Amino acid sequence: MKTLGIAEAVREEALQRASRFPVRSNWASQIGDPCERFLVYMRTSWQERPAPDARLQMIFDMGKDSEIIVRKRLQAAGFEVIRDQEYVDLPAHQISGKIDGMIRDEFSGKNMPVEIKSASGYNFDKLAGADNLIEMMLGGARYMQRYPAQLLLYMYSKSNGQEWKNGVWVFFNKITGEIADRVVELEPWTDYCESLLKKADRINEHVKLGTLPERVNDWELCSGCDFEAICNPPKTESERVAIAESEMGDLLNERRDLKAEIKPTEGKIKKLDTRIKAIMAELPGQVEIVIADGWICKKGKTRWIYGEVE
Ligand code: SF4
Repeated sequence: MKTLGIAEAVREEALQRASRFPVRSNWASQIGDPCERFLVYMRTSWQERPAPDARLQMIFDMGKDSEIIVRKRLQAAGFEVIRDQEYVDLPAHQISGKIDGMIRDEFSGKNMPVEIKSASGYNFDKLAGADNLIEMMLGGARYMQRYPAQLLLYMYSKSNGQEWKNGVWVFFNKITGEIADRVVELEPWTDYCESLLKKADRINEHVKLGTLPERVNDWELCSGCDFEAICNPPKTESERVAIAESEMGDLLNERRDLKAEIKPTEGKIKKLDTRIKAIMAELPGQVEIVIADGWICKKGKTRWIYGEVE
């Protein structure tokens, strides 16, 4: 069957708009990413990030177009979104962002920042129906883990959270056109915001010194990462798994037995810990799992976790 070639023309047009932008600060929309190394690359190596292909560019476009639809619908329902795309920043931490707008907060009588997120039917139901929305987002897909930091930091950016105490997410179901909102209070999340400021400071320091944080030990995250080509994370199981020296199993057994004593000898345990740490420190950085005689050791975020095989 003949076509007018519309699909190709639309793809071509989308490709012409697909580009990368210089990144001069920590974007509030990204600072919640689970990999700090990724966030440093965003600042120092943004040129290396592949430009969106036509399909991804069209997904971005649809997000932007959805925002226009949502604003219209909200206005028709009596909720006007004002101060569209206003910049917010936390200059001391080199964090910046752009709010989608402000909307009247029925609870305080003031305006509060609004973030509009379009979602698939499945994710819309999850977002709109979550009992603990922020916890759910933080345990979700990579892009979703970034949502809380973005809105909470916008709120925090105004007088350390004294001005914008509430914020609101407006979710749009791209399949059905349904819209739902969830208001979030900043107060229970101020510690989280402060941890993000510290994260931004660490990133800034790496940018200044030209250094990089450790890679994350999460192959699923790395396999879809825009910086995989320059980061070079371990790819194969044989790179990620190591067999420990035979001494390791003996050390862990001895430690377990000492710990089980009624009055464990702390000095002896410390000595064992020092030796265990020394063996682990000699392993290549990409190793995430170590198999020792009767033990499986997994690299956690801050330390190794030792588990006995049942
Ligand atoms: S490839 Fe993995 S470790 Fe490297 S930046 Fe991406 S997520 Fe982080």
